[in-house]
Amino acid sequence: MTKIIPKPGIMDIALYQGGQSHIAGMTEVIKLSSNENPFGPSPKAIEAARDSAATLHRYPGTDHASLRAAIGARYGLDPARIICGVGSDEVLQFVARAYAGVGDEVIHTEHGFSMYPIIIRAVGATPVMVAERDRKVDVDAILAAVTGKTKIVFVTNPGNPTSTMISEAELARLAEGLPETCLMVLDGAYAEFVAGFDGGAALVDRYPNVIMTRTFSKIYGLGGMRVGWGYAAQDIIDVLNRIRQPFNLSLTALAAAEAAVQDEEYLTFCHAENARLRVWLVEELAKIGVPCDPSCTNFILARFADRAEAEACDDYLKTQGLIVRRVAGYNLPNALRITVGDETACARVVAAITAFKGGAA
Ligand SMILES: *Cc1c(COP(=O)(O)O)cnc(C)c1O
Repeated sequence: MTKIIPKPGIMDIALYQGGQSHIAGMTEVIKLSSNENPFGPSPKAIEAARDSAATLHRYPGTDHASLRAAIGARYGLDPARIICGVGSDEVLQFVARAYAGVGDEVIHTEHGFSMYPIIIRAVGATPVMVAERDRKVDVDAILAAVTGKTKIVFVTNPGNPTSTMISEAELARLAEGLPETCLMVLDGAYAEFVAGFDGGAALVDRYPNVIMTRTFSKIYGLGGMRVGWGYAAQDIIDVLNRIRQPFNLSLTALAAAEAAVQDEEYLTFCHAENARLRVWLVEELAKIGVPCDPSCTNFILARFADRAEAEACDDYLKTQGLIVRRVAGYNLPNALRITVGDETACARVVAAITAFKGGAA
């Protein structure tokens, strides 16, 4: 046996389970398990990625100035207070590495993103899970769980896999109630799917201990490119930049993300299609006795009678070439998370679940 022992917490990490993408023996599958954009990336992002190939012998810039300027212009934010990472996952890691360690507690919520406990344990800190109320973040429960050791609170809004969100007033109440020494991370991976929602940017401007994270993996359709960003007070951004690798984002990733964020027309199209189809999905499933909360994201959370029915439905969907996500690992054993696909995919989901319910009756 080796005497080489990893640092505290690391052996407690359960490996992240990604969304399944293949079904054995089936070629015509529709993947609805990872909340990807069914329309793909913007054609302009594809072109920019292709164009970048000719200069791949060059190192990328270290300060991401051009991409930060483009993000700042699109969202009305100060580019100096933006940091870019290899997916928002990396930005979340910067936060944990810079602000938490052995002996510290970090709060995440019951149905929150499964990356949080991984990130928290990786720095040796202790994850503290707080219950949600009716699949919504419970501000009072979070405030009650704060101790002198709490360094960070992770909140996803809108939530994954719940698809629900809480109001800006509730988030402000949370920011207000936390100790000034405790960082509040607002993970806004799905913020673009909510018309008029700033992801928490205004709260960042109001409270010096709030940081917002965003991603190019969801509405921008660039999950494969790995680009995310964070927005916070200048002193926090300066801290995070100290532990960021200078060349964390590739030339191609920088070019594709910049083109994507500038393509407003494509963004508008993706937003409108998702808004229309997610409402249709929720309404159609309600008619056949499968309730979902109204979704603020690009997926829905379909609830079944119990775990057995949810798993039986998932098995049936697979026979129909439809891959969705089981969420028992998120404390939601009787539910399935289904990404809102294009119109054909949504129609196939409704037809398949209708057949499943009919067959079960
Ligand atoms: C998809 C998702 C992200 C995005 O992660 P990336 O590393 O940017 O791909 C972040 N948070 C939540 C809650 C998500 O669902």
